[in-house]
Amino acid sequence: MAKSKFEYVRQFEAHDECLPHCWIVVRIDGKGFHRFSEMHNFVKPNDDRSLSLMNVSAEKVMTDFRDIVLAYGQSDEYSFVFRKSTTNYNRRASKLMTNLVSLFASTFVYNWTKHFPDTQLKYPPAFDARVVLYPSNRILRDYLSWRQVDCHINNMYNTCFWKLIQDAGMTTTEAQHRLKGTLSGDKNELLFSEFGVNYNNLPEIYRKGTLLVRSSVQETATKTVPNKNGDGTMEETFQRKRYITETLYTDIVGDKFWREHPEILG
Ligand code: ATP
Ligand code: ATP
Ligand code: MG
Ligand code: MG
Ligand code: MG
Ligand code: MG
Ligand code: MG
Repeated sequence: MAKSKFEYVRQFEAHDECLPHCWIVVRIDGKGFHRFSEMHNFVKPNDDRSLSLMNVSAEKVMTDFRDIVLAYGQSDEYSFVFRKSTTNYNRRASKLMTNLVSLFASTFVYNWTKHFPDTQLKYPPAFDARVVLYPSNRILRDYLSWRQVDCHINNMYNTCFWKLIQDAGMTTTEAQHRLKGTLSGDKNELLFSEFGVNYNNLPEIYRKGTLLVRSSVQETATKTVPNKNGDGTMEETFQRKRYITETLYTDIVGDKFWREHPEILG
């Protein structure tokens, strides 16, 4: 196509290709979900409908972006890890990030009624996104550990906080005051002695968040091919690899998971 005299304006576009050989992480996070969760009557501290809607939205993202090797989600956030050598969108940060976050948000809305059949969506939710590059496996693992430890700390706090409000009848201010300065052991003890709750028996999805990993399964498929005589067709079976997304609620801070899945970090 002929170039117009206006073409030069393209030169003003920023080049934002991600550094080679680095893990590309896109983290998205719900905008103002504190309010969003109240407006849509989320069960506190953990609404299963929202968690499953977040998870199906992340699965859709993983299905469409084949170079994502792993995703980790908790609360209103999800981190997506692209393989180090991806050439998706020529590694352009803004392209990767905006395509990913808009697909996530639209899938979240698209599937809303399936997960919240009795709750009308009151306004369109938004998600922010950022791209972070990690130059080594160790630092990528530390990033994921950081998110999972955050999940653990918040969940423990929120579990105590909402028990004090829902079961002990405290106001939010009283509950905050009661928890001020408490350590993890104190919170465990509070849950056990005052509410008979063993924190370690709470569902793993609350305590550890959700991990999506791509794994391959070998399967037998059939295809139609010309028959030996060349006068018709026949069915032939063949082996193929099919990629599936596996959902895990497991510890990713320690070495065990990584030892069992050496293929992820390559
Ligand atoms: P920001 O726009 O800065 O992210 P935010 O209100 O979304 O603001 P976050 O730190 O992201 O703040 O926290 C998300 C909040 O959304 C949680 O604190 C919690 O109140 C709520 N939330 C998210 N997921 C759930 C869930 N599954 N069940 C109950 N509440 C949830
Ligand atoms: P990419 O993902 O690279 O943007 P694309 O298929 O969206 O791929 P564009 O260059 O953005 O390519 O072009 C958008 C195309 O969408 C148009 O070429 C046209 O075929 C179609 N399209 C968009 N808006 C309309 C419209 N209002 N009516 C009919 N067709 C439309
Ligand atoms: Mg925030
Ligand atoms: Mg948020
Ligand atoms: Mg958040
Ligand atoms: Mg285009
Ligand atoms: Mg287009």
